[in-house]
Amino acid sequence: MSTSAKSSSENHKSSNLFQRLNIRFPWLKLYLVIFIGTVATLDLLDLTISKITNLDQSFPRTPMAKHVKATDRVLEGKMLVALTFDDGPSPSTTPALLDILSKKNTLATFFMLGSMAENSPDIVRRIEREGHEIANHTMYHQNLVWLSPEEIQSDVNASRAVFSSIIKHAPTLTRPPYGNYNDVVSSIANTPLILWSVDTLDWQNRNPETILNITLSQVHDGAIILLHDIHPTSVEAVPNIIDALRERGYEFTTISELARIRKIKLSAGEGYYNFRP
Ligand SMILES: [Zn+2]
Repeated sequence: MSTSAKSSSENHKSSNLFQRLNIRFPWLKLYLVIFIGTVATLDLLDLTISKITNLDQSFPRTPMAKHVKATDRVLEGKMLVALTFDDGPSPSTTPALLDILSKKNTLATFFMLGSMAENSPDIVRRIEREGHEIANHTMYHQNLVWLSPEEIQSDVNASRAVFSSIIKHAPTLTRPPYGNYNDVVSSIANTPLILWSVDTLDWQNRNPETILNITLSQVHDGAIILLHDIHPTSVEAVPNIIDALRERGYEFTTISELARIRKIKLSAGEGYYNFRP
């Protein structure tokens, strides 16, 4: 009885308070509506802006950024290498490689051909979803130094269009086929050019043991290791490469993350062979 009387008196008090507020501040409700409306609009605007930014094709913010922050503490001060896989993706070999990388908790960089990517868009999306870096290896693997500026431009445009349509942004790094480039290629590619410091010759030897041995004999802190995910023998070599390098104290990361950790600001048109400390 007394409880119910108390709560009813409280209700009465609070309704009185609300009425008093209404009289003293008749605009309060309107202010509240405007405030909530503004917050909602700003949120919507932010969402729209971030969508537009993601569509930017020159130097986009890639989903990598999220991963980079998460692993910062683990990778700073460690011996680091970047595994790079060229010429894919291939439906017959790349999914098995992704399974291995995921099982070994290892990130890599994929220098894909636009012509291969457009045949396997789901694999391209999986590569990005799993935190690897997607980079450009041109559309048709032509030796760019033999092409006219118009032909280089058309190849560059074609591969960018493929990646932009599949992952909604163009890659920020290019690896010229055969590692060949000149000033014309540099200026038209208009992204950093990523070469390598450990050449496993996996496309030639097609032998997992040889690939491992070459890697171990050439590896160094900041190495960029060249492999091709289109060859089953290269994929087969990867688990042993990861285990053997971890045993020697190396950790794996992507090209962009490695450059950032080594405080190297990548410049468009510049060639990079390694990221030694
Ligand atoms: Zn290649």
